[in-house]
Parts: sequence; C-alpha cells; structure tokens
Amino acid sequence: MDEETWQEALSGIFKGEVRFMELMKNHTSLRIGGPADVFAIPQDLNSLRNILIAFKEGETPFSPIGGGTNMLVRDGGIEGVVISFRAFRKVETLREDDEYVYLFAEAGASLQRLVHFSREHGYSGIEGLAGIPGTVGGAICGNAGAYGYEMKDVIISVSIMEAEGRIRTVNRDALAFGYRRSSITSDELLLDAEIKLKKDRKEEVAAKVENFVKKKWGSQPLSEPSAGCVFKNPPQLSAGKLIDEAGCKGMRIGDVEVSSIHANFFINRGEATASDFIRLMQEVACRVKQISGVVLEPEIRIIGRDEG
Ligand SMILES: Cc1cc2nc3c(=O)[nH]c(=O)nc-3n(C[C@H](O)[C@H](O)[C@H](O)COP(=O)(O)OP(=O)(O)OC[C@H]3O[C@@H](n4cnc5c(N)ncnc54)[C@H](O)[C@@H]3O)c2cc1C
Repeated sequence: MDEETWQEALSGIFKGEVRFMELMKNHTSLRIGGPADVFAIPQDLNSLRNILIAFKEGETPFSPIGGGTNMLVRDGGIEGVVISFRAFRKVETLREDDEYVYLFAEAGASLQRLVHFSREHGYSGIEGLAGIPGTVGGAICGNAGAYGYEMKDVIISVSIMEAEGRIRTVNRDALAFGYRRSSITSDELLLDAEIKLKKDRKEEVAAKVENFVKKKWGSQPLSEPSAGCVFKNPPQLSAGKLIDEAGCKGMRIGDVEVSSIHANFFINRGEATASDFIRLMQEVACRVKQISGVVLEPEIRIIGRDEG
C-alpha cells in the first residue's frame, strides 16, 4: 500500500501517529536499522485493533517494538508496519494483602520505571533487573533477567491481542518461559501484565537495587550504543568469557566492535551497519567454535530485510 492508501484506510479509525519510511536506527539502542515502511504509534486499544485489522486486510505484516534494545534491524529496513507501544505506559497498584502487592503494567512502560516504582515502595522481586533498558512488554516477551532474577518469576498473567484484534488473558504457566524466551509469537501483541511482588523493607530493596546497578556499570559498556548480550550463555558457560578466550575482544568490522569491557556486547562506533554486525557475529562465533568447540546462539532478535 502506498502512503495515500494508508492515510485513507486509517482515516477516522486511528488515533495516534503514523510515519512512513521511518529509519529504525532512530528507534533501536544500537542505532542501526533501515526504514520501516510504516511506523505506527496508536494512542488507544481501539486504534491498535483497527490498525491490525486494516493491515490484515491488506495482508501487510506487522512487527511490535518496545524499546528496541534487544534487536538488530537489517539495513533494508522492515516490510509492513512497526507498532510502537510508547502510548501504553501505565503502572499502577491493583490490590494488596499483608504479604504481596499486585501491579498492573502496560507493555510500553519502561522496565526501569517499574523497578523504580518497586524500589520506592519497598516491593521485592525485580531488583536484579535494575539497569536493563527497554519496556515491560519486551522484558516479558524475552524473559529478561540478570543476577538470578527473571521477569517470569513475577508474572501472574498477561493480556495479548491476536492478529484478528481479539484480546485474551494468558496465565504465566501457559507462556512457556525459558532462558530469554517465551511462547509469545511475533504475530501477537502483548498489551499489559499483572505482576506480583513481595512486600519488603524499602531500605533493603533499595540497597539490593543499588548493588546490582553498581555491578552492571562495573562490568558492561552501558554508555555505548549496543543491544546488550549478542549471544546466549550456553548451559553452565559464559558467552562473554568464551568470546574473550577466543581472542575476540576489540575485534572490529566496519564500525562494529567487540567491547573490550564485556566481550558479549558489540558496540556501534559511529556508522555501523547491520551487515557488518552480522559478519562480526559470524566471525566471532566461528572463532569461539574453533577454540572451544562451543556453538553460540544469538540472543538478540535479528529482523527486517537485506538492503536491495
Ligand atoms: C546496555 C544493555 C544492557 C542489557 N542488559 C540486559 C540484561 O542484563 N538482561 C537481559 O535479559 N537483557 C538485557 N539487555 C537486552 C534488552 O534490554 C532486554 O532484552 C529488554 O527486555 C528488551 O526490551 P525492549 O522493550 O527493548 O524489547 P525490543 O528490543 O523492542 O523487542 C524485543 C522483542 O520483543 C518483541 N516485543 C517487544 N514488545 C512487544 C509487545 N508489546 N508485544 C509483542 N512483542 C513485543 C519484539 O517484537 C522483539 O521480538 C540489555 C540491553 C542493553 C542495550
């Protein structure tokens, strides 16, 4: 569909912003990525549903995006519609008992806002997620985690909008959470979640959060553009250590460099491209395989089309 047809299809049924040929490098923490055909920021559930239905009729693919902090978008950009959740940011208390508090968080809320909220109130359960960028939606879809804490441990249920616009509630046990994964597929939209945290002393929660933030800043290149860990840790092993032992720290292709602070982080040194990033991933994985025999698997999500 061209721009004019889109405008017509959405007129009167969509509240929010729609941009055409929007560069994804402006929406990813890596600062890499070609243009999305359409980049939509719906303001409410009806607009979200209507845009899904409009796409479906036009058989246009859609891709949800949170903070873009765990993805590599190819240089040719993304076909179809990228859906941003930035207008869905509510975090509020649903109910509480003597021991626990139950929170409602929308997919587009920043994960750090949730950590901050919990810390302010003395709610325990997500202290180890302090410092992880991105949204609550992204953290649930990829079961984000660190220091023994994982998003899955605090989820009660989530609401999901299916491609047809129908909303269903899914309990935690049906989400098949695993190491940096869940069963939520790319044609489902996670709208919000119910989260259960344990009441604790504020000072105790704050001290844990501060400790984890300090650890993170001491071991990861947090001020450089990256997408976090590039590869998953193989069972009982550290991907960063394997990459370091294979002599890859500081390796560079184009403007993509293996961080010398944490070898599992690849940094954009300026004008990095996705194709250089993927070549560096292949080269690093190949060297690790040669030295240790271990096959590394990507943790980051690689999406989009190659440059034509
Ligand atoms: C400096 C740095 C440090 C990091 N440290 C950690 C860490 O310690 N532990 C860790 O686990 N990760 C870490 N990460 C990776 C990343 O921050 C997390 O994986 C984060 O949870 C991703 O959230 P996001 O909103 O940015 O997701 P995105 O990158 O936007 O999306 C990730 C995936 O989820 C899907 N998705 C996002 N939102 C929705 C939605 N509402 N509905 C359906 N699908 C959706 C996307 O389509 C995509 O497939 C780090 C990243 C950086 C840059």
